[in-house]
Amino acid sequence: MSKGRLIVISGFSGSGKGTVVKKLVEKYDYSLSISATTRAPREGEVDGREYYFKTVEEFKSLIDYNGLIEWAQYVENFYGTPRKFVEDEIKSGKNVILEIEVQGAMSIKSQYPDALLIFISTKDVETLHDRLVNRGSETEDVIKKRMQRAAEEAESMENYEFIVINDELDKCVDDIHSIVVSESCKKENRTEFMIDIKNQLTAQA
Ligand code: 5GP
Repeated sequence: MSKGRLIVISGFSGSGKGTVVKKLVEKYDYSLSISATTRAPREGEVDGREYYFKTVEEFKSLIDYNGLIEWAQYVENFYGTPRKFVEDEIKSGKNVILEIEVQGAMSIKSQYPDALLIFISTKDVETLHDRLVNRGSETEDVIKKRMQRAAEEAESMENYEFIVINDELDKCVDDIHSIVVSESCKKENRTEFMIDIKNQLTAQA
């Protein structure tokens, strides 16, 4: 069985990437990695569903025993990707989505060179700001910090292989799925298949 692939999805806070990822998992057969974080749960978030919510001490001990494949500090909190789930899913041939910020994405690319790096943006800055305000879960100070962070992240868009605009949810979801499908059809990713079919045809000739 061929190995699964890592699909790294990043985007500005407020780009709607969480909804996009949820829809990708519902509509197509992606597996979603659930991160660990020291951030407090937002209303409606459930431990083990959106995140594994950890204390700073618990998070540090995860780092210490190599339980995370990457981690980063974002605004005031730590976030990291648990190792075991990702490694097991890839081994079993599943494509795994990591919804993580840019430092984590760079770290994943250096460890897994065939990971696909996709950046999601709103169509403009006003939409981004409005979405953060309308979410209603963040203080003015945090919104300001997230907008500042977005300005830094915009510098890193260069390092992504695909930039997808989330203007219409369904289109954005389908665009991302198309990227993954076309990447998997590239001949570099079909080596085993080509050898196999050539051998079979030669044998019966
Ligand atoms: P939020 O607090 O809005 O849920 O997430 C803040 C940021 O942390 C988002 O950009 C999100 O993609 C990122 N993030 C979530 N999980 C991880 C993770 O495991 N690793 C890294 N590096 N970033 C993460």
